[in-house]
Amino acid sequence: MCRHLAYLGAETSIHRLVVAPRHGLYEQSWAPRRQQHGTVNADGFGVGWYAEGDPVPARYRRAVPIWADPSFADVARVTRTTALLAAVRSATPGTGQGEDAAAPYTDGIHLFSHNGRLDAWPEGLGALAATLPPADLLALEARCDSAVLWALLRRRLADGETADRAAAAVVAQAAAHSQGRYNILVTDGRTITATAYGDTLFYGKLPGGVVIASEPDADGAWTEVPDRTLVTATREAVHLHPIPHAMADRS
Ligand code: GLN
Repeated sequence: MCRHLAYLGAETSIHRLVVAPRHGLYEQSWAPRRQQHGTVNADGFGVGWYAEGDPVPARYRRAVPIWADPSFADVARVTRTTALLAAVRSATPGTGQGEDAAAPYTDGIHLFSHNGRLDAWPEGLGALAATLPPADLLALEARCDSAVLWALLRRRLADGETADRAAAAVVAQAAAHSQGRYNILVTDGRTITATAYGDTLFYGKLPGGVVIASEPDADGAWTEVPDRTLVTATREAVHLHPIPHAMADRS
């Protein structure tokens, strides 16, 4: 399934984070090394990043493979940031194929990505979708299982939950409802919350920064995150917490 990556740290270019690393996200679009589901990630891509002085991130998304968009190379080379979330997509069957279904999804200051699938999509959504107010369902960003997870998460954020509590609760809620894989990334530009739940996840510490990614590139020192773990990261520190079954929440 998809590969994704989030970064917080010293200002650097999108190129340096996404394109340049050997076996990095760009290369993972056609030659992932740790991907257990799917083969290539050619069903679109997206990058969201924070520019100085503006808490609301910018996004660049396309429905084509990342290597097939020459304009992205230019944008990536000259755009610098201290926080970014990027993803290359292998679409789950039955989901939308357009740019709107390419992560990152966004709302206000947040960026969101999901690597995995909700096996209940779409026929079995039932009780899970019913936990959303109808207006939220109508406002789904895309016809995609990931958009349902994002709708659940953004509702909790809007109700004042912290991203770490909201992420753990949504994963537990989805897992209690349906088989699936629920690796998510969410950032507000100052913290990253991630889950490892059914797919691979790693983090790497850089001088003055941190990267959390589906799989490591060949350039840094990386640590694998155990499955069923919630990760919270700032520039300074990475914390891992088990996602207990007891957090399952059907509300
Ligand atoms: N289900 C999500 C999508 O279709 C994520 C897919 C993936 O991880 N490959 O976009």
